[in-house]
Amino acid sequence: DNVAKIMGISFPKMTVEQSLQMLGEVVERKQNGLFHVVTGNPEIVMSCQHDRELRSIIEEAGLVTADGIGIVMVSRLRGGHLPERVTGCDLLLKLLEVGNRKRWSFYFLGADEATSRRSAEVIREHYPNVAIAGRHHGFFGKEEEAGIVKEINAAAPDFLIVALGAPYAERWIHQYKHSLNAKIAIGVGGSLDIIAG
Ligand code: UDP
Repeated sequence: DNVAKIMGISFPKMTVEQSLQMLGEVVERKQNGLFHVVTGNPEIVMSCQHDRELRSIIEEAGLVTADGIGIVMVSRLRGGHLPERVTGCDLLLKLLEVGNRKRWSFYFLGADEATSRRSAEVIREHYPNVAIAGRHHGFFGKEEEAGIVKEINAAAPDFLIVALGAPYAERWIHQYKHSLNAKIAIGVGGSLDIIAG
């Protein structure tokens, strides 16, 4: 079987490399509809136990990665054997690396304004061929969301990177899944804070 089930959540047995390969194919494919990537950490798995809505959001996602050594270890106890952990930060850095060769575009949503600005600077410096299609900090009110969605859609990025924290990011992506003009959306937790240093 190519899936490990942990507390009811299905994790495909994929390495970082295989996940990248899959996302590369999604970007190159002429498809419509947003492809949602969930980096499944233990907190999300636990929340799914009592939150049916969150569970269905995770089940609908195009890819759920094993974000945490705990998830990988539990899979081994159960004989499910996930090959390795695939965190949001690993995935984002690798996507930027490939994106730098393939000139993919990214929109960054989330983190505080200083972190958002600084992380964009670091990314521009290290991955000069990546197109930064836009960015917005993650401390907005409900009434600002329509404007943010409009801005993302005008930019039409390959990747919408959502650093709002889990499971806020997953809910946000799901809420706007059918109105967002981006190929792939990923919740990446505190990755922009890490990149900004
Ligand atoms: N964040 C945000 N808006 C909010 C709450 C959090 O943009 O309303 C950002 C926060 O600044 C940080 C990230 O979301 O950059 C959350 O990181 P954390 O490591 O807490 O997320 P987790 O790894 O738990 O998903």
